Amino acid sequence: MFIVPEPKKYIQKDGNFYFSQNLVITIPENSLYPESIHAFTELFKNYTAGKTDIEFLQSKKLGHTAVISEKPFDVCTPCIKSKSDYEYELEIRENFAMISFSETIGLIHALISFLQLIRIEDAETDIRLCVPCYDIYDKPDIAFRAIHLCVFHQTSLSFLKKAIALCGMTKCSHIIIEFWGMYRYECCPEISWKEAYTKEDILPLIKYANGLGLEVIPMLNHLGHASQGRICFGKHSALDNNLSLAPLFEDDGWSWCTTNPKTLRLLEECRRELIELCGKGSYFHIGFDEAYTFGTCRRCSKKDRNELMKEHLINITEDLKKYGRRPIMWSDMMHKNDDYDNKMYWLSGHGEYKIRPELPRDIIMAEWQYICTEEFKTAKSLAADGFSVLTCPWDTAENIDAAVNTAKNNTLMGVIGTTWHTLSQMQWLIPYISDKMWGDANLSIQEYQLCCSYHVRRCVPAEGRYENAGFSEQELSGHIY
Ligand SMILES: [Zn+2]
Repeated sequence: MFIVPEPKKYIQKDGNFYFSQNLVITIPENSLYPESIHAFTELFKNYTAGKTDIEFLQSKKLGHTAVISEKPFDVCTPCIKSKSDYEYELEIRENFAMISFSETIGLIHALISFLQLIRIEDAETDIRLCVPCYDIYDKPDIAFRAIHLCVFHQTSLSFLKKAIALCGMTKCSHIIIEFWGMYRYECCPEISWKEAYTKEDILPLIKYANGLGLEVIPMLNHLGHASQGRICFGKHSALDNNLSLAPLFEDDGWSWCTTNPKTLRLLEECRRELIELCGKGSYFHIGFDEAYTFGTCRRCSKKDRNELMKEHLINITEDLKKYGRRPIMWSDMMHKNDDYDNKMYWLSGHGEYKIRPELPRDIIMAEWQYICTEEFKTAKSLAADGFSVLTCPWDTAENIDAAVNTAKNNTLMGVIGTTWHTLSQMQWLIPYISDKMWGDANLSIQEYQLCCSYHVRRCVPAEGRYENAGFSEQELSGHIY
């Protein structure tokens, strides 16, 4: 079975559904987003070596059913038993494929499964296209299945589209986009690099993501990482542009200065712009990790640091309510370090856990632990305190398994797979964690790597250009002599 994530139940039947230049997808009226129609029109062309055009036909007669066939399908179908969100059935026969679903997302996932089954076969002249006959029943184990994607200075729009396509084709539910100084805010262009992407650059990718059923969660660090950079390189997207922006930050530039009302106004404006950019959604990721020197300037240090942090969190939470959104925060500063084995847990707090009882439970805790290979005790502690919790692994299979199992075994809210600066070297990562979040990961790392290049090749065709192919521009880094 070459569908990732692997469907929950499937039976292969005899025969194949052969099709040629045209396919008609008859769907119930208004059952797909316009962005989905656009995205799937492109994807069907790409997955059929440019041979097949699809036409979406909206029908008033169809219940929660869609039909893929060579000719329009014009029969009334009864409303089949209702399905939960994300649940779908796909029956593929020799002349058609029938999809049963309740919500739009189920229809999108069934279309993605169909695309993944398309085979290109030899024929006497040219090629022919088919999909093997199957009965598939499918639904995910976890509803909230997110991937965190970083846009660094070196991240091309083409690479970003590949990463988004991969999250869509492996049926994630959310992507979190973090711009590392690489989004041009209208309210203050100087806080981003001159090469930052504009709204016009990014919007088509947001729509593409939405078309594939992904909710896009905007992200901006609201405490540490205020430079929109990493501590190890010392680049500061605001202060290296204009040092007179210094009062917005603590003296060393690493954290925002939250007793400066101008800082709070700027963050509010940036949130508004990102929310407008990222489209409909229920969340906003506010970062909040590694704020080593928060509250240290002359004005801030006169106040209690924990109180400052609490006030900041409450203000953000209240503002996000206006948009119907909940904040997601990294929770590494929200634990009593001594309670955990530091060989298994990485924590950066200094007593901030004391504010936990007073924080609004609208705040969702994103508990990242990258060396932990047991059920995350930290995550369970936050859940016991009444928080919605997302477990966040990174770059080893053992760590991913531990994070996903923690979420599943303790019915936590879900999982965020993080990818940071290593995504292009880890082709296996997104297919692996997506499979694990949906059901179970049964393939080898090599098979997940091949799954990545299989989709990348189709979703963002290289058109024969070496640097456009695969998941990184070059196979070798640096100069080769
Ligand atoms: Zn300050």
